[in-house]
Amino acid sequence: MAMTVKGENLVVTKLKLERMLSMKGGKGETSYLKNSQAQARHARAMLHFLEATLSAMKLPLLEDGRFAVADLGCSCGTNTLFLMGIVVEHVSKMYAALGHDSPEFQVFFSDLPCNDFNVLFQLLPPQLSSSSLEQCLAAAEEQRSYYAAGVPGSFYGRLFPSRSINVFNSTFSLHWLSQESPLFGVALEQVPERVTDKRSPAYNRGRVFVHGASADTAAAYKQQFQADLTSFLRARAVEMTVGGVMFLVCLGRTPIDPADQGGADAWNDLVEEASTHSHRVHGLLESEKRDSFNIPVYAACLREFEEVVKAEGSFSINKLQAVKGGSPLVVNHPEDASEVGRALANSCRSVAGVLVEAHIGERLSEELFGRLELRAARHARELMEQMQFFHIVASLSSSLPSHPAS
Ligand code: SAH
Repeated sequence: MAMTVKGENLVVTKLKLERMLSMKGGKGETSYLKNSQAQARHARAMLHFLEATLSAMKLPLLEDGRFAVADLGCSCGTNTLFLMGIVVEHVSKMYAALGHDSPEFQVFFSDLPCNDFNVLFQLLPPQLSSSSLEQCLAAAEEQRSYYAAGVPGSFYGRLFPSRSINVFNSTFSLHWLSQESPLFGVALEQVPERVTDKRSPAYNRGRVFVHGASADTAAAYKQQFQADLTSFLRARAVEMTVGGVMFLVCLGRTPIDPADQGGADAWNDLVEEASTHSHRVHGLLESEKRDSFNIPVYAACLREFEEVVKAEGSFSINKLQAVKGGSPLVVNHPEDASEVGRALANSCRSVAGVLVEAHIGERLSEELFGRLELRAARHARELMEQMQFFHIVASLSSSLPSHPAS
């Protein structure tokens, strides 16, 4: 995956990478659809932040009667449908409270081109014939009162025409690093190049993740995260309508030093599991193969996030907070060790399985996640008690002056 060539090959590399990074599609046992209950629970716990973000918006006078919402990094599960339903319902009520008709809503579901949009589109509830508020509320979950469209592309670049989106939402996606190279402005690497370069002090030897890694590796990840978030905000600043709002949730961490995670930290736990397993499949898997694999995820601390929003300057901060997200494991019988083991393995697989498989092949990937399941089952009780997610929750509005409808 190293950047070695210029010209046409860059395009090939970019396409290959964009196809690789995706949550597991389909509807099977290890799919994102069947393994995103934790995200669903965390999203529900944060609904009041989303609703407060929308309520803070000065409703625009809609000359064309259209209101556009975009969900970035929507994936192919039901979470995005749930959240988009909430946004549309809440904004409808806001217009009704001002005595205005409900606008026609257009919802854009956006993710990388390799996302399983087919599954997502099949899950879309049927469309309401009229968009009156009463019907909209009566129909609640079973029907949708918006027009839906899919938008393929990376949210680190432009996705929409200028001044076209009123509300942006992005949940549990921005911790995925881009594949952008600051040198060429095109997608090349998923993790900073230094992390996979053996000659660099940032080379991530013996690990597959930033957490627990050396200070140099952590600095490279942080730099990439901040550059990515800057690109994200810059693109949204152009695409957002005057007075628009944005609600963002991504993985975060509490300690300042990303390499200094406490024993109870979920990510550190996952690293331990993953690296131990890589050692165990040693012989089957060369250590270099392991060291050249790095999960392109960075859990920022609040300050790192805030620095970027302030430096980029297009958005004012309504709220920026670190929230304890609870356990990433959702199981019916917490005392059943094998169920806990399976839940952990399936959840890791739904998120990172596509990347792992592309790196070490299907057979070894099967082996790795099988071992992860057994190991997790042995530590089921500690995992249930200790694994904990932290999230960064951000409510931002465009800092340009707005024209209220009231
Ligand atoms: N928002 C959903 C899904 C989160 S999973 C939920 O709350 O459940 C994270 C999603 O981010 C994945 O579908 C992944 O493909 C997407 N993603 C990661 N990097 C991306 C990028 N650069 N551009 C667009 N989507 C990206």
